[in-house]
Amino acid sequence: MKTILLAGGAGYIGSHTAVELISSGYDVVIADNYSNSCPEAVKRIEEITGKSVKAYEVDIKDKAKLETVFKENKLDAVIHFAGLKAVGESVAKPVLYYRNNIDTTLTLLECMQEYGVKNIIFSSSATVYGEENPVPYTEQMQRGTCTNPYGWTKVMMEQILEDAAKADKELSVVLLRYFNPIGAHESGKIGEDPQGIPNNLMPYVAQVAVGRREKLTIFGNDYDTPDGTCRRDYIHVVDLAKGHVKAIDYVLSHDGVEIFNLGTGTPYSVTEIVDTFEKVNDMKINHVYGDRRPGDLPESYANADKALNVLGWKTEKTLADMCRDTWNWQKNNPNGYNK
Ligand code: NAD
Ligand code: UDP
Repeated sequence: MKTILLAGGAGYIGSHTAVELISSGYDVVIADNYSNSCPEAVKRIEEITGKSVKAYEVDIKDKAKLETVFKENKLDAVIHFAGLKAVGESVAKPVLYYRNNIDTTLTLLECMQEYGVKNIIFSSSATVYGEENPVPYTEQMQRGTCTNPYGWTKVMMEQILEDAAKADKELSVVLLRYFNPIGAHESGKIGEDPQGIPNNLMPYVAQVAVGRREKLTIFGNDYDTPDGTCRRDYIHVVDLAKGHVKAIDYVLSHDGVEIFNLGTGTPYSVTEIVDTFEKVNDMKINHVYGDRRPGDLPESYANADKALNVLGWKTEKTLADMCRDTWNWQKNNPNGYNK
């Protein structure tokens, strides 16, 4: 059985990926400092899968501690989810973001070199397409200009991983550019649990639904889009997690660097998200229209052909599934994991 290290595996995308990998016959080891997650998420993964999961509380930047994980486990591949991801916070605390996101990557690569682990998948983002590229984004486009330090960390980490693979011909790197993951596992046991006021749309909608926030502000309705609100490529987190299983199969059998967009290829507007959430969950979401949020692009969506053609992966879930599963998670866990 192949063993995969999930760095940041207790978080939103990591926990769903852990479930899908275990269900596909992989063994997983989680390493997380719980800076944006909690050990309860690991328990929930165990509940869903019926398997026990080895988890280490470790800061990935702490090389001595991370080495213990590499020493104690025969790892076949690493998936690197461990990063800080709040765009606004990255503008206020750039040094924290560069230190955490770049350093985790370098420390993982050093340990991989020392322990002979040759396969890594990296959680990148559609944000690397920057401001210049036209939608839909394809993987061969040049990385663009980002509007914030979070985005730049992703650009830099992609570059670091490409350079590492150039120098070591046995290294296999897959860069996964996620679009907008939302939704939750259908069991309602794991889901997105942001700390404080949510920055992202869907968790904010869910917290209005459960009564934790009074109303949603829709940031701008004067964009050059069909209904004037921004459009994004929302992807169900379980579809995204299944994309990682396909990417693991791929990374274990190839060398070099490959980039894949993980999105549906279909954009939805903010208004369509609110309308669909209201309809499938039979409720009203109190909302108002406000100013544009600085740095927001009018549209971001994938051309998802490469993942289909090379990995044999495509999304299966609908926007209605995403809205239903988000609400199922939120209503069963009104305060997230700290219920
Ligand atoms: P998350 O915050 O839920 O998960 C990240 C996990 O990494 C958390 O459990 C956190 O505690 C851990 N972590 C952070 N720094 C660490 C460190 N130094 N040592 C150990 N653990 C550390 O976020 P997520 O939504 O699951 O995102 C996972 C990855 O995907 C991130 O790299 C993120 O930037 C990227 N990504 C996310 C989105 C999104 O919308 N959620 C979109 C594109 C890319
Ligand atoms: N958005 C909004 N109100 C919110 C949060 C987000 O109108 O409280 C909008 C935001 O302007 C963007 C879309 O929802 O058009 C998706 O935003 P999110 O932060 O979830 O993702 P990203 O900006 O990273 O694509």
